Parts: sequence; C-alpha cells; structure tokens
Amino acid sequence: MRYASTRGGAPSIDFLDAVLAGLAPDGGLYVPDAYPVLDREGLAVEPYANVAASALGALSKNAVDSRSLAEEAYRRAAWPASVTPLTQVGPGQFVLELFHGPSLAFKDVAMQLIGPLYERVLAERNERLTVVCATSGDTGGAAVEALKNRERVDLFVLLPKGRVSDVQRRFMTASGAANVHAIEFDDDFDACQAILKSLFADRDFTARAHLSAVNSVNWARIVAQSVYFHVAANILAASGPVNFSIPTGNFGDAFSAYVAKRMGAPIAKLLIATNANDIVARAITTGRYERAPKSHATLSPAMDIQVASNFERLMYEALGGDAEHVRRLYEQFAQSGAFDVPKPAQDFLHTHFEALSLDDAGTQAEMRAWREAGYLACPHSAIAMSGLARLKGEMSVALATAHPAKFPETVQQTLGVRPELPAHCADLFTRKEKIASLPADVEAVKTFIRERTRAWN
Ligand SMILES: *Cc1c(COP(=O)(O)O)cnc(C)c1O
Repeated sequence: MRYASTRGGAPSIDFLDAVLAGLAPDGGLYVPDAYPVLDREGLAVEPYANVAASALGALSKNAVDSRSLAEEAYRRAAWPASVTPLTQVGPGQFVLELFHGPSLAFKDVAMQLIGPLYERVLAERNERLTVVCATSGDTGGAAVEALKNRERVDLFVLLPKGRVSDVQRRFMTASGAANVHAIEFDDDFDACQAILKSLFADRDFTARAHLSAVNSVNWARIVAQSVYFHVAANILAASGPVNFSIPTGNFGDAFSAYVAKRMGAPIAKLLIATNANDIVARAITTGRYERAPKSHATLSPAMDIQVASNFERLMYEALGGDAEHVRRLYEQFAQSGAFDVPKPAQDFLHTHFEALSLDDAGTQAEMRAWREAGYLACPHSAIAMSGLARLKGEMSVALATAHPAKFPETVQQTLGVRPELPAHCADLFTRKEKIASLPADVEAVKTFIRERTRAWN
C-alpha cells in the first residue's frame, strides 16, 4: 500500500511516513493507491478493537502490529466491547455516541489509537517527536489525553484565549503531565493556525525540533474514524444500506465515512450537517466551493471552520484520481477563494452525499425537540439529528460528536438543565491548571518550544 499526494507533486510513501508527515510537501493530502474491501463476515458482532485492527491492517499493509495496537487503544474505553454505543431515538432512527472517550469528544476515538501508534513507531526508530496542535477546542483536549506522559513525545497546544469553553480549556491545561504545554494567545483560532503554519514553514526549525502535527488531515485519524462506520452500518444493515448524518467542520469524519463505504460498509447516503459555516453544504447543493470572508461564531464552535481541508481528498475521488486537475482547482482556490466543481464530479457528490445547514436558532429548536423526545444532545449532535427525518431508507444514524457536558452553558441556556461531567473526569475543575501566555509572534513560540522539547537536536 503506497500513499500519494492529491496534487501529484510528491513521491509516494508508505503508511507510517504518511501518518508522520501530515501534509504532503506539494501542499496536497496523502491518499492510498487502493481501497481494499473488508470481509464483512463478523464485522457486526466482533469487538470494536478487532474491526479497528482489520481496517488498520488493510490500509497499512500490516506495517504495524494492528491487532495489539487496537487492543491497547480501546481496552480502557467506557464500553470496551462496542466503544461507540448506538442508541435508538425513533423508528429506524439511531444516534451513534462517539463522545465516551477521555476528553468527551469524538476526536478521542482516533487520538486514542494515535497515542500508542506514535509511541511504537518512535521506539522502533529510536526517535523523539515535538507534536504541535492548533485547536478551536476539541482537538487539543483529545491530543493531551492521548499523548500525556508519553516518553517520546512533547506536546504543544496552541489555543485562542477566551474562545474555548472552560471545560475544553481544562482538558488542555489540567492534565498534570510534564510533557504537555498549553499556550494561549490573545487572538482567534485562525491566528493559532497561522502560527502553526509558520512553524512548519521554517524547514530548519521543523527538522531540529522533529515537528509533527496531529490535525484532522492526519491519515491515521481518517482510518481510525472509518471503523465506527463499518461497525454501525453492519449492525443495522439487515434491511438495506444505512444512512449517516454527520456534523461537519473540516470534513474528516465525513471522509472517513466515505472510506468505510469504499471498503465495503453497507452505507447509502451521507448527509453533511453544518452550521452557518456551510462551505461544504453549499458545494454539494450548488456545485461551487467558495469560502466566505470570515468564519461565523456559532453555538457549535467545533464546526466554525471556513476551509474544510479533507474535502480535497473527496475532490480527488470525485475527479477519478486526476491529481493534475485537483492541483489546478486548489491553485485557483488559493488565488480566488473559489472553484466550480466539474459536472461529473458533481454527479459523484450527489450519488453519495446530501447536505444541510442550520443556524443557531434552528440548532436550539432541535436540542429542545430531542430533549422532549428523551435525548439530551450537544449542539453539534443536534444539527446532525435534525437530518434524521429527511433521510430516506430503513435505517438512519446521526453521529453525536460531543458530550453535552462539554458545552454546559449552551445546554443550560437552551434547555434549563446543567449536564454533569461523567465520573472519569468529575475532578476536572479541582485540578491545577498550567498554561503559558505568549504574544501571537512565531519567534516567541519557537523559543518557547526549543527551551522545552526533549526532541531538539
Ligand atoms: C471536530 C468536531 C466536529 C467536526 O468534525 P470534522 O471531522 O472536522 O468534520 C464536529 N463536532 C465536534 C464536537 C467536533 O469536535
């Protein structure tokens, strides 16, 4: 199994190098040269870790010991057998709960696999890594929980001051781990992202710090996220292929669903559910991929994203693997902020996807309606649940991507109840916080990292 760039301008590499690299040097994203089809026998009944091992084994060509890796990743899960439980909320309507991991967000499911994966690869290569992550809220906490106290990794989390919830911040600052460094900037998420990009643009710094990013274009995250689509689809598929409604920001989860479908999971339509930041929903319905001048702050902040990075992987698929065409479209996007999806690619999109977007008032109305029906949903999950009624077919599943207790203010304002933190993190507000404040200046950040990372040489 080899991995090539969506833009065709980089040498093909193997699974582990693709995972450690993140972005390809020509600015594209790594995609596999084939999608092996998984044998569906047993996928509905096997423990989750076994399905994870099959998917990882198939997409890495057994470059890693996927079985013991998956077991290590998921043996401490709240539900070790199922990991991501399904709950029925109506006739043929289900919620797939992805938020039972250590930081209460779906990003844990993939990060819990990345932690031991990094550790093993680094031990084998006798290397250390400096991991940097810019976060609008949930990625940072999931990365901290996965990488805290790891011998060969030092983690630096860049977050926008005052723009993440108290619960989100504490997952990044109160781990007590010496190898975790939270840094806040008096600026927005885009500024954090810009600092991250400047760090990587300095080739010398990147090499000496042995820098790596665990953002949502990381291929291991896509693979790990494809697993719950296999599991849920196979459990529910008795009367035909299953639909999924997916709360979408950077298009990572949605692309993972498409990967599962390519690998044989019985999936019908994928409904892309967005908030007012609806660039992907517009691309699917209108055929034009066009960024708005600024992202809107909404009640579902984990989806407040202007450019859906992983959509490039889907465009590569939609264009039949024509990397040259992808490169041209994305060059145009960099220059003018838009491109038109070619007609055959539009047909491809309509075969697999539908789309919706919901504003804050609509989100709150959904939260209230589902609360009355007996289900307490976080704002992101409620947006996905709003799509259940319009999906045709026997079985439809909405993804619940965060625990309602991660957004207590919004839940309280909307529903008048304050959701409690689950037992495993009930002490979050009594733990000691450690956080540094830096000016949004890349040189200051470099100095901070250089003085602290054990990977420097
Ligand atoms: C990250 C996140 C999303 C969006 O997922 P993408 O893979 O970026 O599309 C949705 N909901 C929550 C709670 C998240 O943390």
